[in-house]
Amino acid sequence: MNITVLKFGGTSMNDHQTWKKVLEIIKNYEYPVVVVSATARTTRQLIEAGKAAASQDMERADQIVKDIKHRHQKLVDHFLEENPHQKNALIKESCYKKIDEKISYLSKMLQYASKKKELPAALQDSIAAVGEQISSYLLAQCGLATDQLTQHIEAKKLIKTDAEYGGANPNRALINQKCGSIETILDSGFTPIIGGFYGEAPDGTTTTLGFEGSDYTASLIGGAVHAKAIEIWTDVSGIYTCDPRFVSEAQPINELSYFDATEMAYFGAKVLHPATLKPAQERNIPVFVKNMFEADAPGTRIVRESHSQKEVLAISFKQSMTLVTVCAYETVMGYSFLTKVFDALEKLRIPVDAVNTTEASVTIALQSSDTLTELSQALIEVGTVHIEPQKGLISLIGCNLHAANQLTATVFQSLGELPIDMITFTKEKRILSVVVDENHTIEATKLLHRSVFG
Ligand code: ADP
Ligand code: ASP
Ligand code: MG
Repeated sequence: MNITVLKFGGTSMNDHQTWKKVLEIIKNYEYPVVVVSATARTTRQLIEAGKAAASQDMERADQIVKDIKHRHQKLVDHFLEENPHQKNALIKESCYKKIDEKISYLSKMLQYASKKKELPAALQDSIAAVGEQISSYLLAQCGLATDQLTQHIEAKKLIKTDAEYGGANPNRALINQKCGSIETILDSGFTPIIGGFYGEAPDGTTTTLGFEGSDYTASLIGGAVHAKAIEIWTDVSGIYTCDPRFVSEAQPINELSYFDATEMAYFGAKVLHPATLKPAQERNIPVFVKNMFEADAPGTRIVRESHSQKEVLAISFKQSMTLVTVCAYETVMGYSFLTKVFDALEKLRIPVDAVNTTEASVTIALQSSDTLTELSQALIEVGTVHIEPQKGLISLIGCNLHAANQLTATVFQSLGELPIDMITFTKEKRILSVVVDENHTIEATKLLHRSVFG
C-alpha cells in the first residue's frame, strides 16, 4: 500500500481557508493519513487557562474557554458557508455537539485545577490535548462537505505511551499493533484524520508527547504503517539554514540527513520536534518538510545520508538558557568530581546542552527551569556553584571537520565586541556551540550566519 502520512501544523489549521487548502492537498495522494495540530494559538491558550485556574483566576480561564469555543464554531460556520452541501446541517450539528462536549470537559478540568490550586502534569496534559481533539474531529467532518471520505480516528486508540506526562514516551510495539486498523480504513476508501501531540497512558489517562509533538505523532504512525513518505506541511518552504523568522537571509536546505536534522531540532530549530526522525530513520522512510502556502516549492528532503561539502549546514539557537559553573572543593577533586556533578543532573533528569570542563571545574549550559534551584542545592555538596541565567546558545550544525579550527576563528571574528561566555566543539556530532547573553542571541546568530553563509 502506497501510504503517505501528512502532518499539518497550527498555522495550516488556522482558519476555514487553510482547512480548505489542507483538504485540497490530501486529495493528491493515493492513500493519505492525516495528522493535525490544534488550530493556531489554541494549545498555548489551553495551558494559560489551566495556569489561570490553578492560580484562582477563573475569570481569565472562562474567558479563554469562551474564546476557544466561539473561534471553532465560527470556523465551522465559515467553512460550511463557503462549501455548500446537502449534508451541511448534519455536519454543523455534529461539530457543535463535539465542541460542546469537549468544552464542558475542559471546564470541569479547569474547575478541578482551581479547587486543587495546582496544575499537576497529568491534568495539564488532559487540558492541552483538547485543542487537537477538537481540530481533528472538525476537519474530518468538514471534509464530508467537500465530498471527501474523511474519517476521524481518536488518537488515544493508536498512540499508546507511558505515564511520563508532559513528554510521554511512546510504546512503539503497541502503536505498531494498533495502527493496523489504519490500513483497513484506507482499504475501504476513507482518509483517516488523527489529532497529533497526545496519546494514552496505560491507565487510560491522556498524555502529551511534548510541545510540537504532532510531528512526532506523524512519524510514529508513518513508521507503524511502513509509509512511503512522511510529509510535514508548515508555513515555511522546508528547513532553512537558520530560522527565517529571525534571519531573513536564511535559505532552504534541499537535503539533510536524519542525523543533522535531528541535531538542528534538538538545538532549537522549532520547525521539527526533536524525536520526529527516529521512527522514520528506523524504517528508512524519507521525511519531507513542505510549505502549505507554496506547495510547489521543493522543500527539504530528509534521508539517511546526505553528502554536503559545506563548511556548516545550518545554525540553530535556543534562548532561556542558564550556565551553571561548579568549582570543586579540594576534598572532591579528581575523578569523583565530574561523576558527582553528572549524578546530580541525572537524579533531577536535567538534560545538558553543552559542557566545558577543566580538571577542577565544569560549566554546563542548560535550559532554564524550576529544577535549577534543586540542582544548585545538590551541587553545593561538590563545590562552589555559580549560576548565570538569561543566556542564549547558538549552535553551528554539521560542521566540516577540516574547517573546525577556522570556524572557531570565524566565530571570534564575526562576533567582534559581543562577549562570549563559552564555546564548545564536538567532533563526533560536528557541532560548534557558543553561549552569549540572551539579549545578544539574535544579533550574534545573524552575524554568524552572515559570515558562515555569506
Ligand atoms: P507548525 O505549526 O506547522 O508546526 P512551527 O511554528 O512549529 O509550525 O514551525 C515552523 C516555524 O519554525 C517557522 O515558521 C520558522 O519560524 C521556525 N523555524 C525555526 N528554525 C527553523 C529552520 N531552521 N528552518 C525553518 N523554520 C524554522
Ligand atoms: N499543538 C501542540 C503545540 O502547540 C502540538 C503541535 O502543534 O505539534 O505544541
Ligand atoms: Mg510545529
